[in-house]
Amino acid sequence: MAYDQTDAAPTLAARLDAELRDAHPLTILRKAYETFGDKLALVSSFGAESAVLLHLASQVSKDIPVLFLDTGMLFGQTLDYRKSLAAQLGLTDVRDLRPAFADLAVQDPKSDLWRTDTDACCHIRKVLPLDRALEGFTAWCTGRKRFHGGDRLRLAVVEEADGQIKFNPLANWSKAELDAYAAEHQLPAHPLVAQGFPSLGCWPCTKPVDDPNADVRAGRWQGQDKTECGIHVARAPGAAPNMGGDI
Ligand code: SF4
Repeated sequence: MAYDQTDAAPTLAARLDAELRDAHPLTILRKAYETFGDKLALVSSFGAESAVLLHLASQVSKDIPVLFLDTGMLFGQTLDYRKSLAAQLGLTDVRDLRPAFADLAVQDPKSDLWRTDTDACCHIRKVLPLDRALEGFTAWCTGRKRFHGGDRLRLAVVEEADGQIKFNPLANWSKAELDAYAAEHQLPAHPLVAQGFPSLGCWPCTKPVDDPNADVRAGRWQGQDKTECGIHVARAPGAAPNMGGDI
């Protein structure tokens, strides 16, 4: 089915979701690329489960812009993994998004804002850089899945956010399906997964998890109510830091 991009984003998202809600992730990515072409981006953390979506995307086009939030607080292993995985998959357009120097100078000159205000820290290191990068795109893909729980249990395959179309190609997949896909295609795991990290973020806010039955994201922002970084929450330009949403 062809789509008229002059339709309002909510209408377009609803139509695409109706068509794709039970589709295979590769079908979803192909439709996203076919519909939006060079106005489509993919956001990846190059974290614990990122290789699957990146491999699927590379089957559609190796030129899809991949937006990587380099917060300045990532594990060195994540930066190494970003380079090696992108090279292995042949991805040609991985863009490293960094916080604005002015924001750091004013709000986090000692790089310790995470100790006192994690929402503000995520805002300048994740939300604002991604907002700036997405200005040139009409649609983007995320790696979120329903099995991560919380608000993600109700995740749509295609949704509208701030006037843009957001695809969640892996929304329907289980952990077992992800693992099976990674094994079938011999995708390299993030090196810290073997050290007990089921989910990877910034080093100050990510801990290993001993309990195999714990939530996948149990190691993120431990001891806080915060469970998400805020990049998926609809907001007005210049809005205050918020909770909710992550890659
Ligand atoms: Fe800052 Fe932690 Fe958010 Fe990273 S995850 S941007 S260190 S608060």
